[in-house]
Amino acid sequence: MPSRLTLYGGVGEIGGNKFLLEDKGVRVLLDFGTGFADGAEFFDGNISPRTVNGAGDLFEFGLLPQIQGLYSEKALQNTRMKYGSAEVDAIVLSHYHSDHAGRIAYTDPKIPVYCGETTSLIHEAYSDSKSSPLDDHEIRRFRTGARFRVGPMEFIPVHVDHSIPGTYGFVVHMSEGTMAYTGDFRFHGRAGAMTLDFVEAARREKPGTLLTEGTRVGQGDGKSGMSEKAVLEEARRLVGGSEALVFSSFRGNDVDRVNTFFEACEGSGRRLVVSMRVANLLEKLKVDRKLRVPRVGKDVDVYVKRKKTGGIDDSDYYKWERRFLDRGVTAAEVRRRQRGYFLHLETWDFPELIDIKPRRGGTYIHSATEAFNEEGEKEEAVVKNWVRHVGFRYAQLHASGHAPEDGVFTLVDRVGAAKVVPIHTEHPESFALRSRRSGRKVEVPVKGRPVDIGA
Ligand SMILES: [Zn+2]
Repeated sequence: MPSRLTLYGGVGEIGGNKFLLEDKGVRVLLDFGTGFADGAEFFDGNISPRTVNGAGDLFEFGLLPQIQGLYSEKALQNTRMKYGSAEVDAIVLSHYHSDHAGRIAYTDPKIPVYCGETTSLIHEAYSDSKSSPLDDHEIRRFRTGARFRVGPMEFIPVHVDHSIPGTYGFVVHMSEGTMAYTGDFRFHGRAGAMTLDFVEAARREKPGTLLTEGTRVGQGDGKSGMSEKAVLEEARRLVGGSEALVFSSFRGNDVDRVNTFFEACEGSGRRLVVSMRVANLLEKLKVDRKLRVPRVGKDVDVYVKRKKTGGIDDSDYYKWERRFLDRGVTAAEVRRRQRGYFLHLETWDFPELIDIKPRRGGTYIHSATEAFNEEGEKEEAVVKNWVRHVGFRYAQLHASGHAPEDGVFTLVDRVGAAKVVPIHTEHPESFALRSRRSGRKVEVPVKGRPVDIGA
């Protein structure tokens, strides 16, 4: 059988990347994520697939590909697909976001998962506090530039800049050609130079085919959007100009953003307070020599939520949470020193504000993508109601995890592959339009139909 690439997700959609590479009988999955809109016609906040039914509820709506020898015995127990020994040799993961890793939870734990060292630490933190899709799998760690082989395929992982640490793109040498896969990337984060490293490495290996993400392609936002540096500058201005509490909701695993808000507080007499989940992640990432993260207890404080009426009792907390209790900041403490804190509060923790009783005139920083659909608009309206209720001003401050359209096409031109396969985008046709000028061939992928890798 020739070298073959089949796309089972990330096709005409943002997220849900699931790419199967086959070479001389060896099969490797490149990412196995949950699509953002997966099953939105049937499932919503009220109706979810039953975990007790394994993959059954997802197969019902074609939300997982029918690949033999991929799924765990547990996932298949109530389906027509028969469990057999693993026929997929490895899963290679670009980064820990759920739209790339989420569906690994259904796969056979006998299949090893290759991921970056940082990703393995993030996995450990999630495993402590809830669960991780990588649980039960053997983890094989790689570092940037260190080649590894799975059968006849040689993988070269190269770091890229994205909104979670430990993100990689890959060059894959197969027996009948070479392909490159960008993963998710941007140039405007704290480590934009890492994406340039990927571009140069990919160019050197002369891939025939390039799979590139295009999240922001065709969205009409051109070059616009803030850089992480601009977020820092604006955050400094807001923090410095406020005489009351500042609070923000942002994705806690975006360590760049944690650093940005930590730096915005430096020298302002204000301390960043993060949730226990984020504190646990920061503690795990401490051992990563390449990352700089604020030290828990020294640089940042930890917020302690009350778990029952009355005081704080050790026995109410999970084991991993208990070590933060003595370094913790409670609602009462934030209430006493409102000018002294920048509080990271996830939206589901907004009722804590009822205990904190913020004085009017503070600032709320919405540090996430602005709503782009009806569901998001509803959530944003609720957030705005809370902010209005406590009499705070609402500030939008965010740098996207993805390169704008121009950045994507710069990467495409620089890598120089003869054929481009747009993935992780709702507008693959925008690539085709653009390619008329560059002479590059664009193959708009079809779910489940193999793509020729080419020489
Ligand atoms: Zn991502």
